[in-house]
Amino acid sequence: MKPNQIIDIPLFVKSSTYDKNMDLAELAGYDYCPCCGKAIKNPKYFINSIYGGCMYPKTDWVIYDDAWVMAVGSECRKKLPSDYVMTLKEVMEMEENRMVK
Ligand SMILES: [Zn+2]
Repeated sequence: MKPNQIIDIPLFVKSSTYDKNMDLAELAGYDYCPCCGKAIKNPKYFINSIYGGCMYPKTDWVIYDDAWVMAVGSECRKKLPSDYVMTLKEVMEMEENRMVK
């Protein structure tokens, strides 16, 4: 897998809207979507992020520094490239595959 498959996590709303959504989500004690800042109350879709700012495809099993799995909103995930979005099942499969390697 080439490093150029690491891409920026896109923002789908104005940054002022993002900040407002994020504040509301944090006040309510929820994680928030990295694309719109809206609260994620029931995480179902996830991406592999690096520093929370970039993402890499689910087929990439390299273990990067400062990488973690983060939830994305169920609307925003439809706008992301499909090979970057994972279901919980796929996250668990990925973790298993990494352990085998
Ligand atoms: Zn979103």
